[in-house]
Amino acid sequence: MKVANNTVVSFHYQLQEVDGDYTEDSRGGDPMLYLHGYRGVLPGLEEAMLGRSAGDEFSVTLEAMDAYGLRDENGIKRVPVKHLLEPKNPRVGDIVLVNTRDRKVRATVVKMGRFNVDVDTNHPLAGKSLQFDVEVIDVREATMEEISHRHAHGPGGHQH
Ligand code: ZN
Repeated sequence: MKVANNTVVSFHYQLQEVDGDYTEDSRGGDPMLYLHGYRGVLPGLEEAMLGRSAGDEFSVTLEAMDAYGLRDENGIKRVPVKHLLEPKNPRVGDIVLVNTRDRKVRATVVKMGRFNVDVDTNHPLAGKSLQFDVEVIDVREATMEEISHRHAHGPGGHQH
């Protein structure tokens, strides 16, 4: 079976930031599982999956726009230290949970002051090109339930 809309794909991947150090490898756990056609994975990766079948291996380089998007320079905010929820006493570079007016957001600490802290609300990989080395493990037909939920069920996908 080939990857198409309304198929469930499981795959392993290695991710490498182009011109940077960030890496991820899924092989420590279950393969990733997603329902094709519903943006369950990064747009550029979903596009590159179309028509693949189990056993296929391929590499794809995603520009920032097809991965986590471009950086928003307005994403750097100054907030009172007391709005940081966790962890307690963070350092520059740490990912923190911040209470904003309407929601809680994850952000990276850029500068710590005594009363205020500057945080960057961009995704840490925003603005980065990423290379994925992918191995397709399995492609199957989605169940009616998965299609109505718009996501895949099972280990590596949604479990509820
Ligand atoms: Zn579901």
